Amino acid sequence: MYANLDQPNLSPRTTGWENAAMTTSTGRLTALQASWLFDGTGSALISDPVVLIEGSTIRGVSSGGSPPRGATVIDLSGATLLPGLVDTHVHLAFDTSADAVGNLARRQDGEVADAMKCAGRDALRGGVTTVRDLGDRGYLSLGLRGQAGLPTIIAAGPPITTPAGHCHYLGGTAEPTVEGVVIAVREHAARGVDVIKIMASGGSLTPGSRQDLAQFPAEVLRAAVDEAHRLGLPVTAHAHAVGAIADAVAAGVDGMEHVSFWTADGVDAPAGLIRLIADRQIAVGATVGMRPVPGRTPPPEVAARLPAIMANTRRLHQAGALMVAGTDAGIAPVKPHDAVRYAPAMLVQLGYGQAEALRTITSVAAGVCGLAHRKGRVAPGFDADVLAVDGDPIADPDALHRVRAVYARGTPVPADPPVTGS
Ligand SMILES: [Zn+2]
Repeated sequence: MYANLDQPNLSPRTTGWENAAMTTSTGRLTALQASWLFDGTGSALISDPVVLIEGSTIRGVSSGGSPPRGATVIDLSGATLLPGLVDTHVHLAFDTSADAVGNLARRQDGEVADAMKCAGRDALRGGVTTVRDLGDRGYLSLGLRGQAGLPTIIAAGPPITTPAGHCHYLGGTAEPTVEGVVIAVREHAARGVDVIKIMASGGSLTPGSRQDLAQFPAEVLRAAVDEAHRLGLPVTAHAHAVGAIADAVAAGVDGMEHVSFWTADGVDAPAGLIRLIADRQIAVGATVGMRPVPGRTPPPEVAARLPAIMANTRRLHQAGALMVAGTDAGIAPVKPHDAVRYAPAMLVQLGYGQAEALRTITSVAAGVCGLAHRKGRVAPGFDADVLAVDGDPIADPDALHRVRAVYARGTPVPADPPVTGS
């Protein structure tokens, strides 16, 4: 059974082979031979795939064929191949401990950079080959981009926030004025960030900040977005408070994180706002994906609101909103750096189809990161980011925890130390 028969790049027969055969003599071809393939965009598995890798790129994908002569064949029988996973919201600088904020504060920049590399390797071992870091300190994530042995990193640098506002300790503070945020956006652009992250509301990681209130006046938020767009940068806004969500939508953001519709005493998601988010196809980073840790329960203010937040996430999905799993990896023990592996099980509970949940953490997430042309699909011309898991990840989301092999830009990821979770 084949998915995507209508897709020119993924016919069930061999694609890209002719080209590949010409380079066989170089000895750089690797053929991954497995039992099944989820290609990142389909709704069913493709049987008996051979994925041909040359250097860091996928050269061909076939079903039912044999690897070309001269290729190094990697036997992954029994396994399903799928695109390396994409997490649209991580913090490599947070160490997944119960005091991630305190530990970061106690570390010098050099130690933080080392910890971030460890975090990146943890993500890779769990099959997460692309991460969007939506908040570091001192722009440290920018220096990790392109390094071998780490995921592909899309970097925001320190989030733009108000003095004493949410995550102010990461160093991205700006005066809450038009001039203040324009200066901050320009500095981020000059440093070379890939995306602007702005804290439109407060958040629970920062005592004293108000999760139920907007941090910036609406016209200031709009000025930040306008300046980012003028400089060619997309913007995603951390937005819990209903007012902050409404302001971010009005300001023309490209994406929003959390979108919990948080109020002082509960949760309130106006139907008109949900409609607007869906109609404008603003990317919603739902904070799903959580490793079960015995004895760890959400704080009471979150637990009390969780059923309503989940119901509203379901409403957004039903309204046709563009949604991804932005896990917030790193911030707590339940949020390991490969947390996005846990997202599909939760998305299915929220009404997603099982293949749709997998598309959400592969091709859809790649698109939200601006990488639709080279990430999130197993297809010729795409980066050779491939995850092999035992079993059928469409029928059984837990298969994502049975990692057999990971390739990042064509390079096998060492399995040692052992993969965490399961
Ligand atoms: Zn975050």
